[in-house]
Amino acid sequence: MSLYSSLSAEQLRVEYDEVKQSYDDFKARGLELNMARGKPSPAQLDMSLDIFDSVNALNGYKAQDGTDCRNYGNLTGLDECKTIFAQALGVQNDNIIVCGNSSLNIMFDYISQCMTHGAGDKPWMLQGKIKFACPVPGYDRHFGILEHFGIEMLNVPMLADGPDMDKVNELIKDETVKGMILVPKYSNPEGITLSDECVRKIAAMKPAAEDFRVIWDNAYCIHDVNETSDELLNIFEAAKEFSSEDMFIEVTSTSKISFPGAGVSALAASDRNIEMIKKRMTVQTIGNDKLNQLRHAIYFKNLDGLKNHMKKHAASLKPKFDAVIECFTKEFDGTGIAQWKNPNGGYFISLNVLDGTAKRTGELCKDAGVVLTPPGATYPYGKDPEDKNIRIAPSFPTVEELRKAAELLAISARLAACEKLLKR
Ligand code: PLP
Repeated sequence: MSLYSSLSAEQLRVEYDEVKQSYDDFKARGLELNMARGKPSPAQLDMSLDIFDSVNALNGYKAQDGTDCRNYGNLTGLDECKTIFAQALGVQNDNIIVCGNSSLNIMFDYISQCMTHGAGDKPWMLQGKIKFACPVPGYDRHFGILEHFGIEMLNVPMLADGPDMDKVNELIKDETVKGMILVPKYSNPEGITLSDECVRKIAAMKPAAEDFRVIWDNAYCIHDVNETSDELLNIFEAAKEFSSEDMFIEVTSTSKISFPGAGVSALAASDRNIEMIKKRMTVQTIGNDKLNQLRHAIYFKNLDGLKNHMKKHAASLKPKFDAVIECFTKEFDGTGIAQWKNPNGGYFISLNVLDGTAKRTGELCKDAGVVLTPPGATYPYGKDPEDKNIRIAPSFPTVEELRKAAELLAISARLAACEKLLKR
């Protein structure tokens, strides 16, 4: 295929007619596919079904320390469940609080409490307009939380190895910039893992705000897809050198390990932050769902158990990631209108199409029966300034469905590019 930018108007018209024909053929097939949300497939959910047999009258619903998990108590979670999360995140059990069914909920709750009660001496909501640095493209639900609390979002570009730290260090000279939410491993949507150097720069930050917090959303900490996996430097280890441990609140969950919405989430934090959070939790709840914690602890046992289980997920996900990447490589070959990454893990593939054509690509896909994450969603306020980023979630459809959906997406992106270039 030819480089679109070098085509004459006449050549572009020929290309347009050809691509339009392929698009119309696709449309006539009446597809009904969805690549919008990062949900495990039913086959992935089946992989964890035995979890329900792990807790029963035989073990008396009892935790290792004798706690009857059917009853109230144990605010910060079962020790055996803490151990699993502590191993996965590389921290001590004392620095873990096992929470409910959602890490998003922990993030919402933490920010809510910073607003009303503060992360330092003064509640954020009493400090005028406050802001967060937002690595982009990013996770729409993070932006949703910040928007909900009226926190202004400042875009920071994601580079190949993490957020542009020069820009972040500039922004945090402003005392009203109170934080940043990051997905440090297999980021959503680009699948980028922060380099050691970037993690160190983050640990070394000296924000003007003494109550600055980084939410380290390690949602994909053990979610390798390829044989080659990325290694992430432990943020609390890196922070030790700069005594900045209090700046970080790490969260994760088993949503993409066992069951989204019916898994277990956890937070990891410094001793001081754990004490603060515990104090608030005492008022908030008598304890989280220990039966679910026990189920997970008995079923997965330890980090090796988790990792073995994740290999089954990888076997299911890998052909799906490959199908999308193969299709893009073929369909965009030589056109120069698209870039994507081939991540080693996580849940997403991020596609950048020709500037100014992502929304149009999304519309074309929708009209032909393929639903994508709405273009723009990977940016604060749903506004991609260059209108070019599209997040693809390949986990839920079958490989066959994905092949069709990815081909239609590529054809739509090419059609949108032709339309734009023909208007020049
Ligand atoms: N964080 C990231 C980066 C995600 O991609 C997702 C879900 O897609 C979540 C958090 C949601 O996690 P949970 O189900 O634990 O709330």
